Amino acid sequence: MEESENKPLINRVHLNAGLGADAGKSVVRRNLMHERGYAPYCGDVKCWGMMPRTKWDGEQFKCPCCGWRSQFPDDFIAGYKAKWHQAPNV
Ligand SMILES: [Zn+2]
Repeated sequence: MEESENKPLINRVHLNAGLGADAGKSVVRRNLMHERGYAPYCGDVKCWGMMPRTKWDGEQFKCPCCGWRSQFPDDFIAGYKAKWHQAPNV
């Protein structure tokens, strides 16, 4: 009986990793700051679009299939915009 209690725990750890644990997010952020045009994959595990890449909407990244939107902190977004989305008249 006790053995079966271990399985849900493993599944939960795996799910959390897919939902953007800090370790995974830091890789995404590094890519965002070093690859022009890079967009993270949709973060919704239930996305019917098979987790496609998101699109920059001016403030965050948004999934074109399910409407999922990234939640990067303001300071990261500010740095991202400063690098790739500078206003042409500044
Ligand atoms: Zn999606």
